[in-house]
Amino acid sequence: MTAPTIYEALKWASSFLENASREPKVAEILIIKELNLTKAQLISSLRDKMTSETFSSYKAKIEQHALTGIPVQHLTGEEIFFGRTFKVNSNVLIPRPETEELVDHVIKAVESKEIKNLTCADVGTGSGIIAITLALELGNRVDKLYATDISDLALNIAKENAGSLHASIEFFQGDFLTPLIDHGIKLDVLVSNPPYIDRKEIEQMDDTVKNFDPELALFAENNGLLAYDTVVKQAKYVLKDKAMVAFEIGYQQGESVSALIHNTFPNSNVQVLKDINGKDRVVLAEVENK
Ligand code: GLN
Repeated sequence: MTAPTIYEALKWASSFLENASREPKVAEILIIKELNLTKAQLISSLRDKMTSETFSSYKAKIEQHALTGIPVQHLTGEEIFFGRTFKVNSNVLIPRPETEELVDHVIKAVESKEIKNLTCADVGTGSGIIAITLALELGNRVDKLYATDISDLALNIAKENAGSLHASIEFFQGDFLTPLIDHGIKLDVLVSNPPYIDRKEIEQMDDTVKNFDPELALFAENNGLLAYDTVVKQAKYVLKDKAMVAFEIGYQQGESVSALIHNTFPNSNVQVLKDINGKDRVVLAEVENK
């Protein structure tokens, strides 16, 4: 078969996806990536013929997405977060829009204060989105940014993203805050989107999440609260006298996570903030560590 034009390939792919009850727009996202075009270039080259190599590579991805539901980010190897493109793979959680909201709250909270020379950390950095975005958005306020992850494979991606986006971050492999405690580091700001799903919820989860995001990034024991519990207890040894703690949380975890913070830091001001869908999604706390 001779290779089709871009227009024909798109038409074939959209209807193939639609018949498989997948989002037809994926056809365009994948062709833009396959041909390395901008959207404007795509529109002006619709009549061009594809080579048989690019068409068969494109066709294989469309078929894989249609049959398995593999998220498009795993096929393109990237996702946009806070307006920047991050490399992703199967070793990291695909960045979510809810996490943009977490980062936005942290930026606004920092900017609303006259504080500078901050030392910040992102715990369980995954692809590095939180640490890198904070480094780039708060550059003038932040002196030092640390990021930890237990997974070396995730850290490789995070380091690559920090390099390509020119963010200056010190990465540590280790469990939650352990490497920072070992190095005697003291923080003004602690941010984390840790694993928070209770394994009992696996039945209700979307296949595209449970089949493709790493388990390590999703699940936590103790009704999904183990990571918060550990990080908050460790925070006693890492936070300065006054510090900010921000977590992304599951929509039913606002009260429990606030209680964990209050138990360890009785003098703290804890807010539970909602996401764009009206669900509890962020806990933002100003804590006194005395
Ligand atoms: N911090 C990363 C993110 O928000 C990874 C989170 C995780 O793996 N739980 O995407």
